[in-house]
Amino acid sequence: MNIFLGTSANACIGIGKAFVIPNAEKRIIPQQHITDDEREKHLQRFDNSLANVITAIGAQLAAVKGDKVQSEIFETYYLMLNDPEFLGEVRKSFASSDMPIEYVLNQKTEEYADRLRCSGNEYLAERAQDICDIFGRVLDDMLDYHPFKIESVPDGAVIVAKTMNPSDTIILSKRKIAGLALIEGGVSSHVGILARSYGIPAVFALDKVTEEIKTGNTVIVDGIAGEVIDCPDEDTIKSYEVKIEKEKQRLEALSKFRNLPAVTKDGVKFSVMANIGTVEEAEMAAQEGADGIGLFRTEFLFMNEANQDIGSAHVHASGFSEEKQFAAYKRVLEIMKGKPVVIRTLDAGGDKIIKSAELQAFSIEEKNPLMGLRAIRLSLENPNLLKTQFRALYRASVYGNLKIMLPLITSVEQVRDALSIAEMAKNELRSEGVKFVEDVPIGIMVETAAAAMIADCFAKITDFFSIGTNDLTQYTLCVDRENTAVAPMYNEFHLAVLRLISMTVKEAETAGIPVSVCGEMAGKNDSALVLAGMGVRTLSVSSKRITKIKALLSQFTLPELQAISAKNLNVGMTLEII
Ligand code: PEP
Ligand code: MG
Repeated sequence: MNIFLGTSANACIGIGKAFVIPNAEKRIIPQQHITDDEREKHLQRFDNSLANVITAIGAQLAAVKGDKVQSEIFETYYLMLNDPEFLGEVRKSFASSDMPIEYVLNQKTEEYADRLRCSGNEYLAERAQDICDIFGRVLDDMLDYHPFKIESVPDGAVIVAKTMNPSDTIILSKRKIAGLALIEGGVSSHVGILARSYGIPAVFALDKVTEEIKTGNTVIVDGIAGEVIDCPDEDTIKSYEVKIEKEKQRLEALSKFRNLPAVTKDGVKFSVMANIGTVEEAEMAAQEGADGIGLFRTEFLFMNEANQDIGSAHVHASGFSEEKQFAAYKRVLEIMKGKPVVIRTLDAGGDKIIKSAELQAFSIEEKNPLMGLRAIRLSLENPNLLKTQFRALYRASVYGNLKIMLPLITSVEQVRDALSIAEMAKNELRSEGVKFVEDVPIGIMVETAAAAMIADCFAKITDFFSIGTNDLTQYTLCVDRENTAVAPMYNEFHLAVLRLISMTVKEAETAGIPVSVCGEMAGKNDSALVLAGMGVRTLSVSSKRITKIKALLSQFTLPELQAISAKNLNVGMTLEII
């Protein structure tokens, strides 16, 4: 039995068999020059691998017969693999080069993909990712390289890995995963957020787990104590089974709060809403008694849609199509039956990388992506993409109580630019005779110090604020929320963060616009109380936290909450500083 100490990212317990995910290696393309005698062998290897992939795609095509969308994708792949023009170009280029065939194929594939991306034709641009995917498979076959596929993780496994990306976590949400044990990852990272949303026990910042835990070992992920136990003895397993059962009973006891309004002991009303990233999560939120959706992270929807489409970890451009977005937004609004639904425009970038033909032109290698072209900045650089999202949102607006939110706002100009793109979308719909709600409220995320400092200005041009404490903490304290090395400095209770929140709440109150908190602080017991005492009346949390937060609020009176806030804002930290 071996105990690893880490940081809790979701306070629940899971037991299962370990599945150690190998560190992602990159496909290595050989670069050494070849002699004329070797040419024949290279061509043979190319032909064999091409045939192998054609056979595999043929089998996949047969397996999805009847599914129009999937069939079309595999048919496109099939046609690409048999494209005489492209294959002829590869052979011709190889004949006049002294580089290995893998090198030539890789180069030609990239050239071809670039031509498609720059074609100016939306359909062709979308095919760029396809061509990279499919000839990537031929390359992998030639190089005998087998990249790890997240889909191969068995049900009931405890995942042991260095790190995970959000799109893989979304794929795992469809499986019964017993736990996550990661070397990297901050508690407020998107993987952490997703683990909490899906109720997956999770411990991060664990040292050497991928080296020391072996696939198949029994492992306990204790997200309450923040530790992982490898090869526990019988008594330990039994004691944890008892703990799991007790937790189940505690949750059952909380279930009575599902259908009760959130009120304090002295009758002050709150809204406890849900943060979601997929349509399925909206169903979960409704079941858990959410008063609405306080944050729909649409970038996860794009990732998820894409993964379902092509069954690979790549994020596909078709996820951006207006129809797909419209269907998803409409569905969420319908599920919430008239309760407010705040849908946030694309917040891609940072750790939420979306590889797509549409975004490719802007996906320069950034040295510091968290400070780079992410969120609203990326959307404003891609105005057509943002307009498409607005069109889908406005079209869906007639199906419920929609509010639109803009992420990572730092300047008034950004809001003005986004609003004018929204107007363009509305004008188009009007001229097409499409019905939509004219005055859908448009608000902003206050998640940078810049936004909090000039909240009074934003209050004049936006309809509501939602405070994103995850990024607000990260940017105010200059602490990467993903980085384990600085995790102890990621302190949401830092006086600077609390003052920025308090300022934002006051400015919203003065201007008479609603303010909510949708960062992780809203869903944690200690910080939720502080926020409530500051005057926040809408907390948006992961669905699994809704009943817990309602139960928590019911134990306090407003003066008690205000006292907790005042202590944190004034006395506690100030004394420490002195
Ligand atoms: C936040 O930053 O607090 C937030 C809610 O947005 P995200 O976690 O998606 O960055
Ligand atoms: Mg954010």
